[in-house]
Amino acid sequence: MTAAIIDGKALADKLRARTAIHIRHLKAAHGFVPGLAVVLVGEDPASRVYVRNKARQSEEIGMRSIHHALPADTEAAALVGLIKRLNADPGVDGILVQLPLPPQIDPAGVIDAIDPAKDVDGFHVINAGRLATGAPTLIPCTPLGCMLLLGERHSALAGLNAVVIGRSNIVGKPVAQLLLAADCTVTMAHSKTRNLPAVCRGADILIAAVGRPEMVRGDWIKPGATVIDVGINRIASADGKGRLVGDVAFAEALDVAGAVTPVPGGAGPMTIACLLQNAVTAACARRGIVIPTA
Ligand code: NDP
Repeated sequence: MTAAIIDGKALADKLRARTAIHIRHLKAAHGFVPGLAVVLVGEDPASRVYVRNKARQSEEIGMRSIHHALPADTEAAALVGLIKRLNADPGVDGILVQLPLPPQIDPAGVIDAIDPAKDVDGFHVINAGRLATGAPTLIPCTPLGCMLLLGERHSALAGLNAVVIGRSNIVGKPVAQLLLAADCTVTMAHSKTRNLPAVCRGADILIAAVGRPEMVRGDWIKPGATVIDVGINRIASADGKGRLVGDVAFAEALDVAGAVTPVPGGAGPMTIACLLQNAVTAACARRGIVIPTA
């Protein structure tokens, strides 16, 4: 079997184009352009790249991008002070604080300070609780992207066995909630799970969000399963530059799975596209505007 490759880049392009249409509509019909504030603390090189990409992509689709860069020795109180100002600013619809934060700042306290209505990452406990209880909310971007990628392959997920490897608050737990809401039978696996390969072999839908290069081997995958690889791992390469791989051994997965996402070009591009969509969702929800359908 040669698995279909689910093209996250193409899907992200489509989603961004739709979000751009929504922004044009909001400007024409309601006289405003959504504003997304991104806060970066410190000099982490990967974070700088992510933040630059977010700013570039938001501007490309006509969203207002507001950038705050704070030095690495910023104290939590100063960061929370900035967040409070952004919470109160009517021109700011979404607030994203780039993680990880420097060690002197507790990320939980910072996320807690964000107005849940502007929490475009969907990490605030109120939004996590709303997701867990099935209430409308801002859904974390990577999990939302995973569900849209699954939608490329499945018109319905009801009754399918889904295994999620990884139980972080930002990927594993919310994606499991979304799969449950879609009527899957969900198993959450983690570092203490016994006989993980056997657990994975029961999965019609396998989501890997671990951070271990190519951990999921071909013989862990049920023939015909759909595999979404969230992992982003840099490994050594012959040219010394390093290359990105996922948590799934991609070449092996191609022989067994029904469909699989590549790394790069799968879940990664969807994350930023979903962030931009969330900013529009937040802007509309705060103003009581029903989002137009494209
Ligand atoms: P975390 O480190 O927060 O969580 C990793 C999870 O994997 C934990 O639940 C851990 O279990 C589990 N785990 C670790 N080792 C094993 C193992 N040997 N067997 C089974 N489970 C294991 O990571 P994140 O959720 O933040 O990210 C996961 C991956 O996704 C990373 O590669 C990250 O770079 C990538 N990522 C990609 C994004 C994108 O845009 N595509 C966005 C966010 C993350 P335990 O809880 O028991 O410790």
